Amino acid sequence: MAKGRITVLEQYCKSCGLCVAACPKKVLRISERTNAKGYRPVEQFTEGCIGCAMCAVSCPDAAIQVFKEQE
Ligand code: SF4
Ligand code: SF4
Repeated sequence: MAKGRITVLEQYCKSCGLCVAACPKKVLRISERTNAKGYRPVEQFTEGCIGCAMCAVSCPDAAIQVFKEQE
């Protein structure tokens, strides 16, 4: 199965949780940290990202970048 990697641009995240709900592999969660605007940014907390980009597509604030890695 394909592997992926994401980067969260924490300063743009508003903790809406849409990406958490959209991820088919359930590898995202709201973190305990607080960003500059007072929101808790999303983080990937476990392995298993497949690079499907559902999270990035669902994010209204374009806070997630997805990188698909070669097998
Ligand atoms: S790219 Fe897909 S598998 Fe990876 S975190 Fe986003 S929604 Fe989940
Ligand atoms: S969808 Fe975007 S703004 Fe909402 S929690 Fe995920 S990264 Fe943050």
